Amino acid sequence: MISHFVDGKPWTGGSVRQGEVYDPATGRLTGHVPLASAADVAVAVDAASRAARAWRDASLAKRGAVMFAFREIVNARRDRLAAAITAEHGKVLADAAGEVQRGLEVIEYACGIPSLQRGAFSENVSTEVDSYSLRQPLGVVAVISPFNFPVMVPLWFVPIAIACGNAVVLKPSEKDPSAPTLLAEWFAEAGLPDGVFNIVHGDKEAVDALLESPAVRAVSFVGSTPVARYVYQRGTMAGKRVQALGGAKNHMVVLPDADLDLAADAAVSAGFGSAGERCMAISVVVAVEPVADDLVSRIATRVAEVRTGDGRRAGCDMGPLVTGAHRDRVTSYVEAGIAAGATAVVDGRGVEPAGERDGFWLGPTLFDHVTPDMSIYTDEIFGPVLSVVRVASYDEALALVNSSEYGNGTAIFTNDGGAARRFQHEVEVGMVGVNVPIPVPMAYFSFGGWKASLFGDTHAHGRDGVHFFTRGKVVTSRWLDPRHGGVNLGFPTQS
Ligand code: NAD
Repeated sequence: MISHFVDGKPWTGGSVRQGEVYDPATGRLTGHVPLASAADVAVAVDAASRAARAWRDASLAKRGAVMFAFREIVNARRDRLAAAITAEHGKVLADAAGEVQRGLEVIEYACGIPSLQRGAFSENVSTEVDSYSLRQPLGVVAVISPFNFPVMVPLWFVPIAIACGNAVVLKPSEKDPSAPTLLAEWFAEAGLPDGVFNIVHGDKEAVDALLESPAVRAVSFVGSTPVARYVYQRGTMAGKRVQALGGAKNHMVVLPDADLDLAADAAVSAGFGSAGERCMAISVVVAVEPVADDLVSRIATRVAEVRTGDGRRAGCDMGPLVTGAHRDRVTSYVEAGIAAGATAVVDGRGVEPAGERDGFWLGPTLFDHVTPDMSIYTDEIFGPVLSVVRVASYDEALALVNSSEYGNGTAIFTNDGGAARRFQHEVEVGMVGVNVPIPVPMAYFSFGGWKASLFGDTHAHGRDGVHFFTRGKVVTSRWLDPRHGGVNLGFPTQS
């Protein structure tokens, strides 16, 4: 049984509800995860509240030192963390290692907290009066994360929240809970005081309890759009600061002058990496004619070479889907695409995986002649299904991208700098790649989409992260001024 982690140690909690955890590559049940009750969440929030009172007073040097120690531990054990991800998520080990690396980069960013949390000082804003700004922690903050990046997404938020002086309650996905639990153990080993980082496992009941808890001041959520919208609305109604990152449908535009081999490599890597279970996966290629026939043929050749199998086996490029239910849902979209008249250039349903028969397999699927009314175009499938839409011009491509409900990531492939510049200016999407298919910002920039891909106004990590996990205070102070001006009911002005 996987445990919660509360007040510095593993904890079983009081709830009798449990979830099942699977190895997606074998289809075997590998463990159970407790599903916290509201009472369990209250215990974790209480522990965090007690810890937050002392942690906010820990020096920047102390907070930075803990973060450095944590960085060293995660770096030394990155292979163990990657193996824990693959065992419950299914992504291939190299991909899991990449996820750990991107998470490490946020830890490294948080090590710079002494300069990140620095305020500003202005001398003599009035005669012998000084003003200075501070950024102070919020108290207890909650992080709620999805299954597809069980380590990286928690690490987008947790290191920055803690470095800023907050205490955190993390509610990871119940589908792959083991890897994030390792992070809590390792933070404790790094010297983080008990209660500053807590994990409660669970589902909607735990999420609702966090959203309702008056002690939780802010919520960072990542998951599907319907749940992101719900968390944003309910959390803000309860008076909390909320950032809720949602789903995506990312388009890659290929202009006629693009390097088609580069574009085809990129489409396959970004479409089928992590079996398409990435919020930055490319799910739609927008081919601007006359290149579609040539581009589809180059993509199809590459898709045929993608090896689907157990992520722990050498030579596999793409693992299984996370659960049997999710595999069946994605398969139903393949059926819907065929029924709607799209051309299945490659059909992943007949895949012969390098792995056990009962794994949650679906091979890469490539559709051509997809139109915007088809469900394979409109819906976030979150699986290895790549659609090609053919358009006549750049303007038609741009209009298509901008008409999407989502605005997480996009890319343009071209050799025309002017067209690329026009696209980055005109496209209504938060993260844009130019000849880069998965433009995930580095830790020192901020990650976030537009429209239904993000509710709230603050993106994850980078300066936005520090801003989200702190609140501003400005102090105006006067010392040693001998000139008492007497009572004055007027509004203060400089003199
Ligand atoms: P999900 O929405 O099902 O779950 C996300 C979290 O919410 C989990 O912790 C889950 O336990 C909880 N949850 C699920 N249903 C809930 C409900 N009804 N009420 C309250 N809480 C609930 O998402 P998922 O399937 O784990 O992850 C995949 C989704 O996440 C995709 O839509 C993907 O695009 C999105 N995602 C977005 C980003 C981004 O940065 N925008 C990053 C990663 C994943």
